[in-house]
Amino acid sequence: MPSDIFFLKYAAQLASHVDPHKTSPNPRVGCVVVRDDKIVAEGVHDNFGGAHAEANALGDALLEASTVYVTLEPCDCFAGKQTPSCTQKLINLKPKRVVIGALDPHFSGKNVEKLRAAGMDVEVLEIPEFKALNPFFEKFITQKKPYLCVKMAQSLDGCITGGDEVYLSNEISRKRVHVMRSQYSAILTTVKTILADDPKLDVRGVAGSNPDIIILGKKSDIPETANIFKISDRKLHFFNTHDLEEVLDECGKLGIDSLMTECGPTLAGALLAENLVDEVQIFIAPKLVGDGVGWTSDLDLKNWKRQSVEALDGDIHLVILARP
Ligand SMILES: [Zn+2]
Repeated sequence: MPSDIFFLKYAAQLASHVDPHKTSPNPRVGCVVVRDDKIVAEGVHDNFGGAHAEANALGDALLEASTVYVTLEPCDCFAGKQTPSCTQKLINLKPKRVVIGALDPHFSGKNVEKLRAAGMDVEVLEIPEFKALNPFFEKFITQKKPYLCVKMAQSLDGCITGGDEVYLSNEISRKRVHVMRSQYSAILTTVKTILADDPKLDVRGVAGSNPDIIILGKKSDIPETANIFKISDRKLHFFNTHDLEEVLDECGKLGIDSLMTECGPTLAGALLAENLVDEVQIFIAPKLVGDGVGWTSDLDLKNWKRQSVEALDGDIHLVILARP
């Protein structure tokens, strides 16, 4: 007989295929309905303003003989909310059991109590894997700041400049970076990086929309002809301050729930030194540079915890959680 974990993991897998940029600032959620140990319906929340996972999975028939598995605590109505309450829908359809992957920090178990009060057998498994499905949402709702990822490309000997070559990392790594850009709400960069590289910082070669750009420094220091001004379907925000925490707070007020860096070692190092980073993604090219510029030599990295390592056609892609 398949276990609760089996069905919840299946629901999480459904949600993991959704582009987080499309649901932002809502979380990705998966839901399955199980009767006699068989999945009879499934649904995900896959776009902001669209139907929730439960609404997509549940239909209108009574569910008295079924168990509903949902990766996150079902929502309820609150001021300004447009979509109907999934908690109320469950109360109307009366499933025998509801199994929930993680509590929603908006509701912190209040809706679990409502379901129990309506006579349902409700279990909350609180497994880190289900929170990990929505790291942007968790950080943004609990701290009102964006989830911050420092992205760097480096050589095997830790240098971030590749000598005579334009790119250190290979084509597949660079494509992965475009996928990352499509998943984050905004990119954090500096006037210095824009003057040095004249980047577009857009999404190319993969599906997805362009993230907004947060630029540290003065707009007037960038030539009007720079590539950064040539992309029209996004916003540019300038912050002329050295207070990085203030920048993150302001990004939170703008509704930016996730931020990835495209910058040099100075900003990356400062963000890490000030303990503002949630995740680090490093693309390591199998090259030795020797006398290039490094970026980690001044940092205390003992507590970093590797989340994944993957070979990308010769490059190594490391994902590290900066806060264990
Ligand atoms: Zn809902």
